[in-house]
Amino acid sequence: MNIEDQEKLRAGLEKMTNQCDRCGTCLPHCPLFGIQDRELVGARGKNSVGRAVAGNLGLPAREALEAINFCLLCRACVANCPGGVRTDEIMMDLRRLLIAQTGAWEGRNRLIGFLLGRPLLVTGASAFLSLLRRTGLERIFTSPYFSVEKTAHSYLAMRPGPVILTPKTEPRLFPQGQKPGKVAYFQGCGMKMFFPQAAAATIRILKSITEVTCLRNPCCGLPHLAHGLWNHFVRLSRENRRLFDGFDLIVTDCASCGSSLKHLPRFFANLPEQGEYAIMAAKVMDLSEFLAAAGYSSPGRREGLVTYHDSCHLGRGQGITKEPRTLLRQAGEFVEMRQGDLCCGGAGAFSLDYPEAAAKILEKKQKNIEMSGSSLVVASCPGCVLQLARAARNSGKFQAVHISQVL
Ligand code: SF4
Ligand code: SF4
Repeated sequence: MNIEDQEKLRAGLEKMTNQCDRCGTCLPHCPLFGIQDRELVGARGKNSVGRAVAGNLGLPAREALEAINFCLLCRACVANCPGGVRTDEIMMDLRRLLIAQTGAWEGRNRLIGFLLGRPLLVTGASAFLSLLRRTGLERIFTSPYFSVEKTAHSYLAMRPGPVILTPKTEPRLFPQGQKPGKVAYFQGCGMKMFFPQAAAATIRILKSITEVTCLRNPCCGLPHLAHGLWNHFVRLSRENRRLFDGFDLIVTDCASCGSSLKHLPRFFANLPEQGEYAIMAAKVMDLSEFLAAAGYSSPGRREGLVTYHDSCHLGRGQGITKEPRTLLRQAGEFVEMRQGDLCCGGAGAFSLDYPEAAAKILEKKQKNIEMSGSSLVVASCPGCVLQLARAARNSGKFQAVHISQVL
């Protein structure tokens, strides 16, 4: 990033961080403030760091990066801020600026960025992980990134009975007899690598409604954006914009991809391409949003209680909370858990960088799921399903699946 761009970013940060009047309303809502009683973990403290960086007040870059990296980007502070301060965006811009200023970069994040930036490598990783799952070798790895996918087959093997998961359906129309136009499926890297059967279920459901084109799209770029790898993010966004040009709707079953695609005009604000990204963003729909608009309802009902975890990028990121619940109520007996919108602690690479903090947040989520009495917790984001699967393993009382596997 050249000096002029850095200065623009710095000036934007100064403006955004100055909107924080330090009222502290956000603090009790921050999952991190709930586990570490330190000013710096909440949005108020982080925005002070942002002000110091933007105002060139001499805060060492390493110290600043350490403080702002410890953030789930969950937007709980944003949703509860009376002044509408967009702390998650401030954190992402700060990471970008500090990396540009100091050349500091995390080798692991660069590696993840490199891998996710290349569709062929993602396909290779997906094949490798599938092989591990098929042979049972994933059990020798303790990382959540080798998680077992709960498929309809494995779920039914554990819980035999009149349970219906992803049954065959007859084609429907959208909405009320209208055609939805040219629909494309956007497959996120997480769905491709960790939940290929859930992705296949999504495609089956979509095809029961309308014709769907499946493209080999690259990553949405969110992992790059979240870690300050702006140039990678720009390249991937451009590739996706070109690839999906000509489609009327872009449906995704990944809450994180959907949120980042819908926010593209914001990320490209004041840049010449902003208008084109606004056109693209307007076409993006989450799977549950699309299914609700299409009047879809699951053709079968399952036994046992089902609860729902609001992924941060779907609930707060896209304002979608009703649609998945409506669909789940039609598919079985639905029950709310306490604090359904509390972040699960996965948050991309956060659970790798801060495993102890992530585990403490997940413990709360696990207790809430157990208290709901559900045998199944459903989420709309592969990152959340990975994290919830860890809670399921710890608990032994419930299973975690992606929403497309229940509908
Ligand atoms: S985005 Fe989430 S983790 Fe980060 S400061 Fe806000 S509430 Fe806390
Ligand atoms: S981020 Fe918003 S809620 Fe939090 S201290 Fe600043 S103004 Fe108050």
